[in-house]
Amino acid sequence: MSLIVQKFGGSSVADAEGIKRVAKRVVDTHAAGNEVVVVVSAMGDSTDELLDLAGQITTLGNAREMDMLLSAGERISMALLAMAINELGGSAQSFTGSQAGMITDAFHGKARIIDVSPHRIKTAIERGDIAIVAGFQGVSQDSHDITTLGRGGSDTTAVALAAALDADVCEIYTDVDGVYTADPRVVSSAQKIEKISSEEMLELAASGAKILHLRCVEYARRFGVPLHVRSSFSAHEGTWVLPSPDDKIKIQEGEPLEQPIISGVAHDRSEAKVTVVGVPDIPGKAAEIFGIVAGANTNIDMIVQNVSTKGSGRTDISFTLPIIDGKEAIDALNAAQAVVGFDTIQYNEQIGKLSLIGAGMRSNPGVSHRFFEALHNAGVNIDMISTSEIRISVVTSAKLLDTAVRAVHAAFGLDGEDAATVYGGTGR
Ligand code: ASP
Ligand code: MG
Repeated sequence: MSLIVQKFGGSSVADAEGIKRVAKRVVDTHAAGNEVVVVVSAMGDSTDELLDLAGQITTLGNAREMDMLLSAGERISMALLAMAINELGGSAQSFTGSQAGMITDAFHGKARIIDVSPHRIKTAIERGDIAIVAGFQGVSQDSHDITTLGRGGSDTTAVALAAALDADVCEIYTDVDGVYTADPRVVSSAQKIEKISSEEMLELAASGAKILHLRCVEYARRFGVPLHVRSSFSAHEGTWVLPSPDDKIKIQEGEPLEQPIISGVAHDRSEAKVTVVGVPDIPGKAAEIFGIVAGANTNIDMIVQNVSTKGSGRTDISFTLPIIDGKEAIDALNAAQAVVGFDTIQYNEQIGKLSLIGAGMRSNPGVSHRFFEALHNAGVNIDMISTSEIRISVVTSAKLLDTAVRAVHAAFGLDGEDAATVYGGTGR
């Protein structure tokens, strides 16, 4: 008997039909002799709708109440799914994140899991029931308030439960057949990836590929949970994300011995660019600036410092950060202008980031040349560049991002013959 954790995203449970379709799938998995724990997201775009609604009521960020509000989305889908399963003759019970033992820190809106004690889930599955758990939410160990894990956080709930329950696999059901070489909503010729190392998947997720929550991939890698990303709309085999490098070398007969050089192209529209202009070019100024930004609890992504213009003794420092953290970081920097001694701050939300990812690129010197050549041919100007061993990222204007993604995807021979299927969802 296997223990399977199945996670269904918002587009899979967008309406009553969707919930019934998912219920059937869960009941079939259970009937095939498996123990099943299900994690659900909120229906369709309902989390965004709740956010919009709150925005019509207040502009004050009341983080505690926002988490109370947003966590309601998952409570709706979990209860409806349990009803749909019971309707099919199965036996299901739903649990909030708190009831399922998802213990977090107290950072509302971006809480981190610090402990998982799923006693009630264990009892339910030992009884032969199907346990449904609300994704994306937990409870703070200190304040006992309800917290949420950040947008897309249900994936992380699923993996955390899979790890705590020692599940055999964590299946992430979504509205496409797996992880693609680019977002199929932007590149219709993108191809499904059959197997990907968690190292490459981490870079894809960190670079804005929304198919999996970054923290879900980190968690799966740390705890060795195999992930199977697949569609809830088809029975097709999806993409396997393999947790350890050892899994990668279990080569089947007939399989090519070397991995492809490039696994895919990711893009991200959620970041803004900050330039601190005229920073005194003396030791300690970068530390001051990033200290201030870190104090605003912001994750910095790319950083570029220019050489100081000759004789000026001043330099510019640019970095990118999530748009949602932009205001707080800018306010904090402005408040410290006199202390740091910079001239002005420029802030631009009209940027996009494109990343090319592949573990094979570290041993292939021609990759960067081909990458920049593709952008040049597409007429795309580059604003910032950063690299890791298995990734090259650039910042471009938001307007040219889709063009850039398609150009790079084509330049690396990733275009497939058939158009990728997007079964549902709005990609919001
Ligand atoms: N419902 C939450 C969101 O829309 C969590 C999730 O779907 O994973 O971000
Ligand atoms: Mg998601």
